[in-house]
Amino acid sequence: MMLGLHVRSGGGVENAPGRAAAEGGETVQIFAGSPRMWKQPTYSREQGEKFAAAMEEHGLAETFIHVMYLTSYGTADEEHRRKSTQAFITALENCDTLGARGAVTHLGSHKGEGFEAALPRIRDCLMEVLASDTEAEVILENSAGAGDLIGGTFQELGRIIEACDNHPCLKVCLDTAHAFTSGYDLRTAEDWEQLLNQFDDAIGLDRLSVLHLNDSMHDIGTYKDRHENIGDGYIGYEAFRAIVNDTRFSDMSAVLEVPGIENKGPDKENLDRLKGLVNE
Ligand SMILES: [Zn+2]
Ligand SMILES: [Zn+2]
Repeated sequence: MMLGLHVRSGGGVENAPGRAAAEGGETVQIFAGSPRMWKQPTYSREQGEKFAAAMEEHGLAETFIHVMYLTSYGTADEEHRRKSTQAFITALENCDTLGARGAVTHLGSHKGEGFEAALPRIRDCLMEVLASDTEAEVILENSAGAGDLIGGTFQELGRIIEACDNHPCLKVCLDTAHAFTSGYDLRTAEDWEQLLNQFDDAIGLDRLSVLHLNDSMHDIGTYKDRHENIGDGYIGYEAFRAIVNDTRFSDMSAVLEVPGIENKGPDKENLDRLKGLVNE
């Protein structure tokens, strides 16, 4: 498994690979711009070349761009859907410029209307995204399922992919903290196996593109989305031991989005905790 982390992209996106490498990362995830603002930069070719050179210099494997948190593809608010769709397309264009593998998005909320009402709208947005002239993967992240959040179950993600005619560019990001609080146990190797079986049944393991490895501040089934440092939360070390040693994913990127020991974001200590679990 290629263990990496989410880092800041401010002050020049080409500095992100160096930041990740300094913590011991092998793979990197960034936001393009602020996760809480619609405005995002469009990277120039020159920035893309500098970024690629930095990836090479630091020996990093893959890049993912996380789309801002504001996106909602199933909302009845047409303007919000339009902005979300455009933001996703811009993120994919940025991926292509940087040579990133894909853009990871949250699906947003159906705002009490129910998943079935939201599904055709999500489909229309994603089909527009998929029709854009971009090559990067279109990656949907599972949610913690709180309130009306879409994507809290593997079934919902599977239904969305099916509604998009099983488009080959559609992929899934599995966030361990979100899966856990939305009700999927993974605290033991057997639990992890069972979770993957459920993922495979509903989505297909071949759709899994990247893992977000986060412990959870809240217990299973609470639907709360608060990440904790590896081993310090309710998920615990046994889960991560099973995951980092899962040979099916030896070529897969896994990204930390934990608070960090000093609350400054994912850090070397958390990466070292994961590396310490890898069987020699
Ligand atoms: Zn996310
Ligand atoms: Zn995540």
